[in-house]
Amino acid sequence: MNKIIYVDNAATTAMSDKAIEAMTPYFKGVYGNPSSLHTVGQVAKEALDEARTKIAKCLNCEPREIYLTSGGSEADNQCIRSAALQGAKKGKKHIISTAFEHHAVLHTLKKLEKEGFEVAYLDVHSNGLVTAKEVKAAIRPDTALVTIMYANNEVGTIQPIAEIGKVCREAGVIFHTDAVQAVGHIPVDVKADNVDMLSLSAHKFHGPKGMGALYCRRGLPLLTFIEGGAQERGKRAGTENLAGAAGMAAALEDAVANLDDNAKKLTSLRNKLIDGLSKIPHSKLNGDRDSRLPGNVNMCFEGIEGESLLLLLDAKGICASSGSACTSGSLDPSHVLLALGLPHEVAHGSLRLSLSEANTEADIDYIVAEVPKVVEYLRNISPVWEELEKGQRPHLI
Ligand SMILES: *Cc1c(COP(=O)(O)O)cnc(C)c1O
Repeated sequence: MNKIIYVDNAATTAMSDKAIEAMTPYFKGVYGNPSSLHTVGQVAKEALDEARTKIAKCLNCEPREIYLTSGGSEADNQCIRSAALQGAKKGKKHIISTAFEHHAVLHTLKKLEKEGFEVAYLDVHSNGLVTAKEVKAAIRPDTALVTIMYANNEVGTIQPIAEIGKVCREAGVIFHTDAVQAVGHIPVDVKADNVDMLSLSAHKFHGPKGMGALYCRRGLPLLTFIEGGAQERGKRAGTENLAGAAGMAAALEDAVANLDDNAKKLTSLRNKLIDGLSKIPHSKLNGDRDSRLPGNVNMCFEGIEGESLLLLLDAKGICASSGSACTSGSLDPSHVLLALGLPHEVAHGSLRLSLSEANTEADIDYIVAEVPKVVEYLRNISPVWEELEKGQRPHLI
C-alpha cells in the first residue's frame, strides 16, 4: 500500500492536536449544561463563553455577534433566509449573488426564488472573480441582500470582499459572505471587510465536523432558526455543543496564529504544483493565479474524465477531488467551472488538489511525477483524445 497523500483539504481537514485536546475535557470532566445554574453548569457556561470570545477575537467582532451553528451549510441557510425575509417585510425582494456559490447558498436562493424573491446571479469572469463595480451596478432600490463567497471552494479564487462590502454599505444593502474556505486560511476581519453577516465551518480549518458559526453584525435583526430554549440569545434553541465549540475555537485560534507562516509555505508548495502540472500539454489552470487561496490548485486536462483521473490517482495513494460535485448521481460538470466559461468537454477533465500544512515537498514531487503518467494513460485510451490528435475536433485548451 502506498503512503496516502491527502490533498482534498477543501472537502475537509484532519483535526489538529490542539483542537482534540481542547475538546476532550467536555466529554467527561466538564459535562454540565451551560443553562444550569449550579456549579457544574456554570463551569460549562464559562467554557462556552470562552470559546465564543476566542472566535469573535479571530474575526474582530464581539462575542455576542457570534452564533454557533452545526456548520457552514446551516450558517449560510440562516444568514440568507434571515436577511431575505427581513428585507421582504420592507418590500425588498431582490437578492444579488454569483453563479459559482456553494450549493448551501445556491439551493437556499433557489428556494427563495420559489417563494417570490428575484435573484440576480452575477457572471464570474474567466479568472473566477467578480468586481465591486459589477455588484454596484446590480444593486436596485429593492435589493435586500448581496451574498458573495469570500473564497471559492473549487477554484480557490478570493473575491475583493472589502470593496464589495463597501459598495453594499454605501447602498444600505446587507452583505453576507460565505467565508467557509477563507476563515483560518487568509486574513478575515469583519470590520475591515465591511461584512454584515458571515458563515464559517470548523472542519475546514482543522476543527471538528458538524460545528460552525455565523457572524451577524450587532443591530441587524436575525430570525430564530430553531424554536425552543433561550440558547444563542433565543435564536437557536438546543443544548450547546460545548466540545464542538471548544474544538472550533482552539482550531481557529491556532490557524490564525500561524496564518502567515502557513500561507507562505502553502503558496510555495501550490506554485510548485501548478508549475509542474502546467507542463502537461493541453492543460489549464482554473481561476486567477494570484488572487487565490494558498493551498488551492485546480486544473483541467483535455481529453479525459476527471472521475477516471481521480480513481487512478487514488490507486496511487493520492486523494484529490475532481471539483465537480456529482449532484444526485448525475455526471454534470462542475457549475463553478461552467460559470468560469469553460466548455463542458474541458470542465469534465478537472482536478482539484487542496493542500494543508501537513503536505511536504516530497508529496508535491510525487504528485507532479504521477499525474502526467495517469493523464497520458487515460488519453491513450480516450476516443475523444484520438479525435483531437487526428485533428477531427479542435483543441479547446
Ligand atoms: C464546506 C463548505 C460549506 C459547507 O460547510 P459544512 O460545514 O460542511 O456544512 C459551505 N460553503 C463552502 C464554501 C464550503 O467550502
